[in-house]
Amino acid sequence: MGSEPTGEEFVECRSPATGEVIGHWSVTSPRVVRQTVERSRQAQARWAEVPTRERASRMLQFRDALVRNAPRLADTLVRECGKPRQEALLHEVGVLCSALTYYSRNAESLLAPETVIPHLLKHRRSVLHYVPRGVVGVISPWNFPLMIPYVDAVTALFAGNSAVIKPSEHASLIALEAKRVWDESGLDPDLIQVVTGRGETGQALIEGGAAKIIFTGGPETGPRVAAECAKNVVECVLELGGKAPAIVCDDANVSFAARAITYGGFYNAGQACVSVERVLAHESIAEELVGELVTLADGLRVGGPEGVWDVGPLIYEPGRDRIEALLQDAVERGASIVFGGQRVERRGCFFHPTVVANCTPDMRIMREEIFGPVIPVMSVRDDAHALDIANSLPIGLNGYVFTKDVERGRGLASRLQVGSVVINDVLSDYGAADVPFGGIKKSGYGKTHGAAALRSMCHVKHVGEPRLPPPTPAWFPYSERGERLARQALHALFSSKSPLSRLLGRF
Ligand code: NAD
Repeated sequence: MGSEPTGEEFVECRSPATGEVIGHWSVTSPRVVRQTVERSRQAQARWAEVPTRERASRMLQFRDALVRNAPRLADTLVRECGKPRQEALLHEVGVLCSALTYYSRNAESLLAPETVIPHLLKHRRSVLHYVPRGVVGVISPWNFPLMIPYVDAVTALFAGNSAVIKPSEHASLIALEAKRVWDESGLDPDLIQVVTGRGETGQALIEGGAAKIIFTGGPETGPRVAAECAKNVVECVLELGGKAPAIVCDDANVSFAARAITYGGFYNAGQACVSVERVLAHESIAEELVGELVTLADGLRVGGPEGVWDVGPLIYEPGRDRIEALLQDAVERGASIVFGGQRVERRGCFFHPTVVANCTPDMRIMREEIFGPVIPVMSVRDDAHALDIANSLPIGLNGYVFTKDVERGRGLASRLQVGSVVINDVLSDYGAADVPFGGIKKSGYGKTHGAAALRSMCHVKHVGEPRLPPPTPAWFPYSERGERLARQALHALFSSKSPLSRLLGRF
């Protein structure tokens, strides 16, 4: 299995669970990237002519093809990334199908022209039109290598664009497999295309004529991509790293919070931007919580790719080396590894689910993205202390709060400096098709998912139409009388003391 040969370098793919070669792909040259973007542009011109309602209905052909091919797609995800099959089916194929369903039901109303009655220049009526941008380039990471690039691509298509995907070099087979499913769906093959390679291929896509770039990836790569986009005057969305705090209040249901945190911390072997990366537990329940986390971690099955397992391998060796360095730093600064803490003695890139207690904010494990099956726990005195620690980092993607008091949960959610918070739940914000996702601070800017993402795939064009003749006396030629009238008009329209201004404020 692999991409069509282009005469360029071939790259072998190995299973992270077994080390075996499972396929290959070839590096797309910058010249072929440019040709791909050009074909995409031509397909987009045809697609943009199709009314939104018709586009929305045709896109369901892709959803049906995905459902038909779900077992095959899940197999590729298992082999290429070591994901548990259940996660592959529900959170890769399922979340993509959910996005297709949501947009197919809502695209027409979300993209309908909007009429604005100007607050002042009431002689005209203004209509805002959501106009497709053209070719959207999607540059994506390896941790959700089907769902992330294809949700972005279909969002672009619902808005009348085409998409060219540059998947991660660590998980390209699944992007190519899904492209075959797209081709099988009967929709124009050139509307979604895939170019494969490393960072240079992503760069070629930015330079090659994409009208917008949706980038998801690491905090070091993001600014480079943004700079490249700026050079080419291309708008971009940056979905970068997270370090989600989970605040566990003294009134929380500790057993439930422990189950949620175990799932949120070890899901996808901890390799999710929304993973629980820091537990901030009230000191009165911290010990009980750690005890429950240890019991739950002990019950998890580490394994794959055969049978059923809960926690699979890490995608590659550097990830495992990094976890060890973070753990060593934590222990040197006084943390206790209360469960796990070492590699699994077997072939493949496995690491034991790990629980670390007595963490403090100076530790790297509390400041840097771990991206592995490690849950660090720190005790906090009260809610204010928890918020201080949670908000102390330069990134802010998402967060979690556990409490029985809904008002307290909402209060904490409003003070967390992140793009999304869920209360008494985990991981549910990313997969939700109908709400926007995206971070603040150095976690990036712009949104994927929901109405905000769909609309941001368009530029908003304003068309003004006359309702009454325009105020031509204000046009040329200027005069002293005109100046006097301008002063009077400013006072009448904008002074808080003016009866006219007060009257206009009511409408
Ligand atoms: P990465 O930054 O190494 O790579 C991401 C993509 O960028 C890859 O396709 C890569 O080839 C490409 N790339 C690299 N250099 C480039 C350049 N100069 N120009 C254009 N493209 C370039 O990230 P990764 O290791 O694949 O993914 C893990 C990171 O992604 C984590 O930090 C994680 O938090 C983040 N992530 C964020 C979200 C989110 O929604 N915020 C979701 C998933 C993952």
